[in-house]
Amino acid sequence: MPDTLPATAAPVPADTDAGIYDRLESSVRVYCRKFPVSFVRARDHILWDAEGRSYIDFFAGAGALNYGHANIEITRALIAYLESGALTHGLDLHTPAKAAFLEAFERIILGPRGLDYRVQFTGPTGSNAVEAALKIARKRTGRPGIVAFTNGFHGMSLGALAATGNGAKRGGAGVALQGVARMPFDGYLGPDGDTILWLERMLADPASGLDRPAAFLIETVQGEGGINVAGTAWLQRLQALARREDILLIVDDVQAGCGRTGRFFSFEEAGLVPDLVCLSKSIGGGQPMALVLIRPDLDRQSPGEHTGTFRGNNLAFVAGRVALEFWARNSFLDRLNDNCSRVAEAMRTFCAHYNDAGISSRGRGMLHGLVMPTGEIATRVQRAAFADGLMIETCGPTGEVVKIMPPLTIAEDGLRRGLAILDRAVSGALDRSPAGLA
Ligand code: PMP
Repeated sequence: MPDTLPATAAPVPADTDAGIYDRLESSVRVYCRKFPVSFVRARDHILWDAEGRSYIDFFAGAGALNYGHANIEITRALIAYLESGALTHGLDLHTPAKAAFLEAFERIILGPRGLDYRVQFTGPTGSNAVEAALKIARKRTGRPGIVAFTNGFHGMSLGALAATGNGAKRGGAGVALQGVARMPFDGYLGPDGDTILWLERMLADPASGLDRPAAFLIETVQGEGGINVAGTAWLQRLQALARREDILLIVDDVQAGCGRTGRFFSFEEAGLVPDLVCLSKSIGGGQPMALVLIRPDLDRQSPGEHTGTFRGNNLAFVAGRVALEFWARNSFLDRLNDNCSRVAEAMRTFCAHYNDAGISSRGRGMLHGLVMPTGEIATRVQRAAFADGLMIETCGPTGEVVKIMPPLTIAEDGLRRGLAILDRAVSGALDRSPAGLA
């Protein structure tokens, strides 16, 4: 992929009035403050600004662009669909685009994994999928409580926000956030702290103060919370505990799903079969879509009990189906595996080189975090990287983790160059020599 702007028929639009944002847009905007340019084009793993500068994308639309920007196959399918005159908006009406998406999901994703779920399309955000899953769990069990975990992130609407740990986000609610008890995630009490044992004791003790919950709500890798990875054995014990205690297991795979950890679902490696799964971000192939996978016997909602005007984004069904077909292709799977190995290798090199500066890494697949000594240093890395042509985000309780999340489909050259920029940015922020990733 060349770094020059692609020749297109349309002229590059420029911001006609750069002051419009300060004048009119809410102060709540955030990413545009970290990446303060106007973006005019994007393709695969590269974005271009109005000055013609290119940026390698290690953020991938917060996980919505696992197949890259304007993936050419997806784009062609969308253009053909739009020109065909078929429905774009469809509530939950039957359309060939929706049927084709469901058929591909059954054939390529559920079937080969031996998974039996009903698919509920929710409003197109991750938050809405979480809301829907929480409602099902509460209603089916008749219990109002949910157990969520420290540093978990589940969305911004009130139900999902109650399950989110981040204090700054919770502070925006303005009302009491209720119905969620917080338990320590894997590793929260240090390497020897057994947080499943803690949970077991709390559930077993009638005087612990923890009411029996409807569900455990878990991210197997906490994306916003700092790329905290739950171990396989920990996840398996959590599922076993849930089954033993008749508590539902909800996996929020909004960020870690759709291939981000190297397999389609983040829980495959641990062999889990959650009762409910939340998917969004890349499930629509870059177009807004969210869904909940429901264990069939739990799917007893009455028609219209959970609705949403934008549950039938047919453009997302089309884009999402093309993306699902990638999963049946060896060329896609081979590149994904190679990229996962390259990122893991780069993380080892980083850690070995910057070890005495207190840098560590954690992650799985194409979702890794470099843990900086402070949030301030991580911000310096982010700024230096952006100035050098790399878009990268931070996460974690104090923003101290630099998050490596390129498109799964990134070409080797793009990945290599992005990692080299990151290396330079880290070395600059720490005032040390680079690890030599080039
Ligand atoms: N769950 C997880 C794990 C997420 O990472 C996010 C978004 N970062 C959400 C839920 C909420 O998704 P959305 O922003 O689309 O509402």
